[in-house]
Amino acid sequence: MAAITMKNIVKRYGDGFPAVQEVSLDVRDGEFMILVGPSGCGKSTLLRMIVGLEDITSGEMLIGGKVVNKVAPRERNLSMVFQNYALYPHLTVFENIAFPLRLAKTPNEEVNRRVKETAELLELTEHLDRKPSHLSGGQRQRVAMGRAIVREADAFLFDEPLSNLDAKLRGQMRTEISRLQRRLGVTTVYVTHDQTEAMTLGDRVAVLRKGVLQQVGSPRALYEEP
Ligand code: ADP
Ligand code: ADP
Repeated sequence: MAAITMKNIVKRYGDGFPAVQEVSLDVRDGEFMILVGPSGCGKSTLLRMIVGLEDITSGEMLIGGKVVNKVAPRERNLSMVFQNYALYPHLTVFENIAFPLRLAKTPNEEVNRRVKETAELLELTEHLDRKPSHLSGGQRQRVAMGRAIVREADAFLFDEPLSNLDAKLRGQMRTEISRLQRRLGVTTVYVTHDQTEAMTLGDRVAVLRKGVLQQVGSPRALYEEP
């Protein structure tokens, strides 16, 4: 677990209008922070700068108190869940979840232990030997989630992970994600343009508009304002 601190973060693509302007935001250790705003307001850009997939034009990004502006993505020990969660169709659920551990050359015994723990948490234990094509949409989404959390990352970053799901499944997954985050207590930044997700999922909500951070507060405080 690690706090994420942004200090006067600016991102300019080329010489255009800045996509992110002087954003300062402190995500506390173990906190579930929602980043909300309309399409094009800079949410993904900000998330990509946390993960290290995008250079920061100016300002400082700190993870666990350490400046990471120049730290490569794979050295940040963060886990990102994308909107398009491609599973490997030819691998079993077990191997799909195990994938990041295999990449990291984790010993077999530990892979077994961690995949089984993760599967239990996500209620996938009975499906470990199946291929993704034999699973329901919700189960596939949980496998993708399992793959993201199987490594003991310092923080989770979600980029609109539910936007491709139908309304019913989205509702189920919302409950699931919030339960999981509370159970694991891992610092989380969750990007969405969906007001319902913003209101129900997180501890605090940060509202971004045209690259500028407009408000930060509890969902209650923000949405009860006149
Ligand atoms: P959001 O995630 O809120 O939809 P983005 O972070 O994707 O917003 O985009 C913020 C702004 O930056 C938009 O104006 C977008 O067009 C621009 N932008 C995003 N990525 C790039 C890029 N790789 N090159 C140039 N402009 C970009
Ligand atoms: P099962 O173990 O249930 O028989 P299959 O091996 O038939 O599962 O594969 C399940 C799905 O994965 C199918 O849609 C199949 O097309 C796909 N698949 C199987 N093997 C591969 C592979 N090597 N590369 C890509 N997709 C594969």
